[in-house]
Amino acid sequence: MAIERTLSIIKPDAVAKNVIGKIYDRFESAGLKIIASRMAHLSQNEAEQFYGVHKARPFFKDLVSFMISGPVMIQVLEGEGAIAKNRDLMGATDPKKADKGTIRADFADSIDANAVHGSDAPETAAAEVAFFFPGMQVFTR
Ligand code: ADP
Ligand code: MG
Repeated sequence: MAIERTLSIIKPDAVAKNVIGKIYDRFESAGLKIIASRMAHLSQNEAEQFYGVHKARPFFKDLVSFMISGPVMIQVLEGEGAIAKNRDLMGATDPKKADKGTIRADFADSIDANAVHGSDAPETAAAEVAFFFPGMQVFTR
């Protein structure tokens, strides 16, 4: 399995719950390295652009409002099969359907406030990393 990079966001609900460290521990324990990170309070424009693929969905407005309701923690994760590995750690979109022990099962309250975002494919991972970390400086160790 190739070394990949993926974009992860700890959403406003999980930041407000003070569980950034607990979620980072999930990544690190699974062998994913945090190779870039920054906290941000997204503007409406940024959130609309980032979730542009969902523009036509009925939940788009609520999703954008939620994503700008407080600060988020944004990171690039790197490791073997990082894209799928992060999706496995996150669990299903609806926390009620997420497997026990996943981030969403343990920290999310609803399908709207579901704690984390993770890129879903190599193409979206590359675009999302570039969106939040243009000209990213990578630190190796
Ligand atoms: P995921 O985040 O698991 O990749 P999607 O890409 O399908 O899920 O959706 C993006 C985000 O939009 C979800 O994480 C969730 O916050 C929100 N969302 C998705 N489906 C619904 C829904 N049916 N009702 C409300 N919010 C939703
Ligand atoms: Mg998605």
